[in-house]
Amino acid sequence: MSGAKLYSLRMRASREGRHLSGGERIVREELLPQTVTDLLARARSKPLQPDQVVVTLDAIARENVRSIRSLDLLAVETAGTAASRSLAASLLSRAGVSERAAEAALDALARGPAASGGNMRGAVILDARSAARLEPDQERGIRASRFDWSDDAAVQAGQELERLGLGHFRTREALALASKAALAPGMVAELCWSDDPDYTAGYLAVPGLGYVRFPQMKEPGIATGGRVFFVDRSAWDPAAFQEFLQRTPVLITAVGSFRAVQDAEALLRQ
Ligand code: AMP
Repeated sequence: MSGAKLYSLRMRASREGRHLSGGERIVREELLPQTVTDLLARARSKPLQPDQVVVTLDAIARENVRSIRSLDLLAVETAGTAASRSLAASLLSRAGVSERAAEAALDALARGPAASGGNMRGAVILDARSAARLEPDQERGIRASRFDWSDDAAVQAGQELERLGLGHFRTREALALASKAALAPGMVAELCWSDDPDYTAGYLAVPGLGYVRFPQMKEPGIATGGRVFFVDRSAWDPAAFQEFLQRTPVLITAVGSFRAVQDAEALLRQ
């Protein structure tokens, strides 16, 4: 992506004020029309049609773009939802998250994390010790944006994910988001599963460990999910955290190591 101008594109689709889907891209100028078309197609691909789609385009100063390496990816197999959540809770504990905060996060995603009980368009921020909710708006949450793979890294990551049977575009996108989020100042871990009833996979991302991908974080047909960012409040400044997640442009130009983990429990001994 050297030379040409870069743009951040953000898409939000909603219906009657409720968030349906979103997308974040950073692309070269000549890819703008195609990317807008792709984002619009995504907004309209769900059974429930949006009545509003907002696409925001911002020019990005190339010198402000931070180049990073993606998190390593560890694909685990578990016996199902309960086993996945239990392993995620143990890994959270190893990362310094209290039992109370881990339970609060798992409960919030299972119930629907918005204050009103539904899904959010962004993430919950949770104090990794006290489990206090810290996001400024508990209906909407905080949305990470301005991140993407560079052209070369996208191809390489795509091939490596394919090799592990993880060719779904969602994995690549989620890994990009988690790789940026892991660098936010004060971030301890991120827990996610989708609110799409047909997509049961989820992950736990821990700086220093990687992106641990679980094929089943919820039962098929369940339409609640979301994201939780656990933060260490002693090293956390709300403004700096938000500024980094929402505004700092990040391109992933190097790909971490991706592997299947046969013995998931071994992660607890690492
Ligand atoms: P998805 O993986 O796209 O199904 O998203 C699952 C949930 O994660 C959504 O319901 C949002 O609550 C949250 N989410 C999605 N995109 C973002 C983002 N860019 N930043 C923060 N949270 C997000």
